[in-house]
Amino acid sequence: MSRTDIGPPDFREMLPPVIKENYGKWKYHEIVKPGVLKHVSESGAELYSVRVGSPRLVSIDFIREICDLADEFCDGYLRFTSRHNVEFLVSKKENVEPLLDALKEKGLPVGGTGNSLSNMIHTQGWIHCHTPATDASGIVKAVMDDLYEHFVNMDLPAKLRISLACCLNMCGAVHCSDIAILGIHRTPPRIDHERLPKVCEIPTVIASCPTAAIKPDPKRKSVKVNEERCMYCGNCYTMCPAMEIIDAENDGIAILVGGKVSNARTAPAFSRLAIPYLPNNPPRWPEVTEAVRNIVEVWAANAKKGERVGEWIQRIGWENFFKLTGIPFTDKHIDDFIFSVPTFRTTTNFKW
Ligand code: SF4
Ligand code: SF4
Repeated sequence: MSRTDIGPPDFREMLPPVIKENYGKWKYHEIVKPGVLKHVSESGAELYSVRVGSPRLVSIDFIREICDLADEFCDGYLRFTSRHNVEFLVSKKENVEPLLDALKEKGLPVGGTGNSLSNMIHTQGWIHCHTPATDASGIVKAVMDDLYEHFVNMDLPAKLRISLACCLNMCGAVHCSDIAILGIHRTPPRIDHERLPKVCEIPTVIASCPTAAIKPDPKRKSVKVNEERCMYCGNCYTMCPAMEIIDAENDGIAILVGGKVSNARTAPAFSRLAIPYLPNNPPRWPEVTEAVRNIVEVWAANAKKGERVGEWIQRIGWENFFKLTGIPFTDKHIDDFIFSVPTFRTTTNFKW
């Protein structure tokens, strides 16, 4: 194996010996208790994974702390899951309970398995990206704090996967989550015609628009935006800093529901709009946490065992979803974003 400094190291170098020895031979796993999975190999070997929620943006001190725990209880083997959980890979059964005690002492939540809320997947937010309509980790922390009991207990009808993307360009997984929190801009980009020709490549800017709303403006050596066609995605701003879209007054959050990646029982599904707009209200986003909790509670009270949010909605119908949750149905829920043909919404008959 050649060693370079490009890309991540080979994962096989970092597997615990029990996984290496039983590679391809793992027979089944069972959930021993919330957050603790027992994996059993054909050879009879066992591995316990202990899942702990992390806030994703973590300090070096926190990483040192969990590494110390891993050194003490599982020969240093731990991994981060794609949902920002920390998983301790424990090959000695007798170490599981002492590890759980040590985690409890440090206030670290163990859970996220089975019919529970796993940690929220999310994007970069204000701390890193330049196009967000909202923050990411701040809202995730507020929502997870509010739904803490559903992370540590397996008390829900089915798995609950919540995700957050801070703009609709979406490097999160909001298109296919039970509940999705999506940052939305609500105003078109503001073009700085003075700056644009100096810092942006016009053909690239035009090509960046998914709705073909951007056209050249040769007179000004700049571009113009057809605001009727603009869906405020901010993709042009990603390409061109002279097309600022962030708007502190108007940016906010939409909530979508009913998506899933899994093809168990029913086909994978896209999330659909439930709440078109909630304000950005840092640091704890009370409107968002309340809206998410309401959906979770109504689903938990009404779904059959094993029914994901989208499956429940399919069974009862969208009308009943809006009725039960008390979420108002508005003109924003009508999905008729088509350019070339007139739709009911664009006719004079449309009155809301
Ligand atoms: Fe940036 Fe959008 Fe990804 Fe958020 S979702 S990190 S704003 S590209
Ligand atoms: Fe096009 Fe999106 Fe820019 Fe609007 S915000 S002009 S839709 S790229």
